[in-house]
Amino acid sequence: MNFDAARNRMVDEQLIPRGINEPRVLSAMRKVPRHLFVEEALQDRAYGDYALPIGEKQTISQPYMVALMTEALELSGSEIVLEIGTGSGYQAAILAELSRQVYSIERIASLALRARKVIEVLGYKNVDIKIYDGTLGWEEKAPFDGIIVTASAPDIPKSLTDQLKLGGRLVIPVGTRHFQTLIKVVKKKDGLVKMPLTECVFVPLIGAYGWGE
Ligand code: SAM
Repeated sequence: MNFDAARNRMVDEQLIPRGINEPRVLSAMRKVPRHLFVEEALQDRAYGDYALPIGEKQTISQPYMVALMTEALELSGSEIVLEIGTGSGYQAAILAELSRQVYSIERIASLALRARKVIEVLGYKNVDIKIYDGTLGWEEKAPFDGIIVTASAPDIPKSLTDQLKLGGRLVIPVGTRHFQTLIKVVKKKDGLVKMPLTECVFVPLIGAYGWGE
């Protein structure tokens, strides 16, 4: 399979027609080899218009969802970004292309270790992955210009908005365990401004300020 051609088709057929138009986001999506973040048997499907399993009952998100969430962070290249839910490491690699430093938290050790390896093989030096409950954020590295939560929460955790810079953006799917709304939050001087982006379905965010086990 020609993965480069498949990746360009993914951008041209799935992202641009749905309104993703930030050039830096589109070029990161054209560049990062998504197929290396899934197991070999699934590589032929890596550029399809869907999420795929990555083991431990978790998923690598649909390409469009990755692009939409990334675009919502409004990254220009100088930012420090926190990701909750490293999963395969694919979203972290996209963020690494678009920001100065990425901190990513995964609660399942086997996934975090595998993601770390792929990120290292691809040569990204600006991604730190830690095994932890991401609902608590990453206090020592805060505040962040952007926070992206790639698992679904019952509410927006205050622990995370507290770690957002003034003017910073947070994207998070909020709703029930089975159906959510993707929300963009901007931290302003006089409070949090919340904008719904789309309906979505993510695996649950499990932790102190997420769902129970
Ligand atoms: N961003 C990932 C990627 O690019 O492959 C996809 C993430 S997957 C949809 C959601 C991930 O969130 C899972 O790997 C899950 O284990 C993780 N997760 C759930 N609750 C978490 C928590 N409290 N802290 C950190 N990671 C969590």
